Amino acid sequence: MTAVTDLDVFPPSPEFAATANAGPELAAAAEADRLGFWADQAARLHWHEPFTEVLDWTDAPVAKWFVGGKLNVAYNCVDRHVLDGHGDQVAIHWEGEPGDSRDLTYNDLLAEVSRAANYFTELGLEAGDRVAIYMPMIPEAIISMLACARLGLTHSVVFAGYSPTALRSRVDDAEARLIVTTDGQWRRGKSAPLKEAVDGALADGEHSVEHVLVVRRTGMDVPWTEKRDAWWDDTVAVASPEHEAQAFDSEHPLFILYTSGTTGKPKGIVHTTGGYLTQTSYTHHYVFDHKAGQDVYWCTADIGWVTGHSYIVYGPLSNRTTQVVYEGTPNSPNEHRHWEIVEKYGVTIYYTAPTLVRTFMKWGHAIPEAHNLSSIRLLGSVGEPINPEAWRWYRKHIGADKAPIVDTWWQTETGAIMMSPLPGVTATKPGAAMGPLPGISAKVVDDDGNDIALGETEAVGYLVLDQPWPAMLRGIWGDMDRYRETYWDRYADQGWYFAGDGAKVDEDDAFWVLGRVDDVMNVSGHRISTSEVESALVGHYGVAEAAVVGASDDTTGQGIVAFVILKESAHGGDADLVAELKAEVAREISPIAKPREIHIVPELPKTRSGKIMRRLLRDVAEGRELGDTSTLVDPKVFEAIRNS
Ligand code: ATP
Ligand code: MG
Repeated sequence: MTAVTDLDVFPPSPEFAATANAGPELAAAAEADRLGFWADQAARLHWHEPFTEVLDWTDAPVAKWFVGGKLNVAYNCVDRHVLDGHGDQVAIHWEGEPGDSRDLTYNDLLAEVSRAANYFTELGLEAGDRVAIYMPMIPEAIISMLACARLGLTHSVVFAGYSPTALRSRVDDAEARLIVTTDGQWRRGKSAPLKEAVDGALADGEHSVEHVLVVRRTGMDVPWTEKRDAWWDDTVAVASPEHEAQAFDSEHPLFILYTSGTTGKPKGIVHTTGGYLTQTSYTHHYVFDHKAGQDVYWCTADIGWVTGHSYIVYGPLSNRTTQVVYEGTPNSPNEHRHWEIVEKYGVTIYYTAPTLVRTFMKWGHAIPEAHNLSSIRLLGSVGEPINPEAWRWYRKHIGADKAPIVDTWWQTETGAIMMSPLPGVTATKPGAAMGPLPGISAKVVDDDGNDIALGETEAVGYLVLDQPWPAMLRGIWGDMDRYRETYWDRYADQGWYFAGDGAKVDEDDAFWVLGRVDDVMNVSGHRISTSEVESALVGHYGVAEAAVVGASDDTTGQGIVAFVILKESAHGGDADLVAELKAEVAREISPIAKPREIHIVPELPKTRSGKIMRRLLRDVAEGRELGDTSTLVDPKVFEAIRNS
């Protein structure tokens, strides 16, 4: 299986290692005393009251971390930096889609978060109440999250591209008392209504929402309900900028966030305070080699996704980061936008998803080459396995062939990065998340929980986490049975967390995450991962993106069905190309992996976080009705797919 076990290795450069935050002592310390190690990491934060115990696992699978400790997340992300004399440092370089921009220092952030906290208090909200945040990527979204954290309100951020129905189901599930939103949002040069969607969501039946707070963003007209609705400008903006943060218990619920829905109905994942902030802070510092006051960091995720929570808001701000926050799409007004932003602010650390890297590849390397990207010193990837081809392109064309790439494996449920190379320490392999971070423990096992032998690259196993970790989910909101069933029943005897991802470990002990267990196909008794076949297809010069599913097949059990998007240059001669692609996969992997069907399509169905919805493609391949499409970017893609 050559596609994912390519053996080129990229050792850290001595120059990078010389100043890296991480060193080999980190893993040694964690190995010597895992809980002591986490206690040391917790000391990165300010505790109003110290904890008395690192971990209480007696009520497994619900953990308590840093028992008895009290802290305030907003104080840790904002106030303490101001008190330490860094109030004038820029926290956020905000870049609006239409070209407007705004810088917020830590002083500004403190004043804004305090104002919002004062107004939320005036509304009668109390610690433990839930607040829905349905906003585009503007500073007020981050301010609202921090104001909730400051008051012990549990936020539920709902991606601003979701429909009124998706918003309503999340608002109902969490029984939110307040929704914070905007009049509208900018998308590719046009304004789209958002407040109207909130009104649509609340139109029918009983609901929990008492207040709707509206930030003016596009200036468009909005429907209005007196008493319930208020403008941010008339309320938060005139509230007092002074507010004293109180401390909350380490296990106080910080937020609820719904998973992407790639494998089924979205789950409302619950995260708490002390452990979550410890691990996001720790991982942001070491995995991104972040240096406060020097680096300019940019994570391109949306706050509607866990990456936005952990690596735009909580991890970075707890570490006093100066970061770029961009409102729009990467091709507004044209495909140069990201690289213009990198040049404008001198971005040094850039963290994105493989889907975007492949999009950049499709647009061609002439685009990044037109810009000076020399400030970039580290690249990150998250969201799905990154194909070796895309990894190499990313390093070469964005990282000047020298920036280390951190391929970070984690989930909404894990709260923070679990596996990644440590820059300056780990030699990387294109496409591998390499291994668990110091303090984290993971294994790849078979159905019965036996270790998959190292180096048995033919064997695909299940990724499990065999020790609790600080940022772990504490449950599924309102459904603890589903929590146990989904993650813990599979390996109940061993007490391991079942991640739902297939993986393997190579002869150098490197972990390769191969995607969902559901995405491992069984063809004539051979287990083949969809990502391997996709990588082989994307390795062909004509293919921009590929999605592969296993469809039931009378003779082979499952047959491989591929959907591919071609690069501009490869259009025409589709029939020849299909034969060529089949041959390519047979050559690259094995004749068994040769797709039964290859469909050339204009688009692939993706979630809001950029993941391909293979379960829906499987429905298409097997001629079934589509399952839950509520988290799709554009449900209309199926017309185009069915017509091709
Ligand atoms: P749902 O659980 O509702 O199906 P989802 O799993 O897509 O949705 P997320 O929590 O956003 O929701 O995604 C986590 C998943 O993303 C992981 O389980 C894994 O499959 C994939 N993933 C994330 N990062 C990586 C990575 N670096 N390498 C491989 N896979 C990754
Ligand atoms: Mg998942």
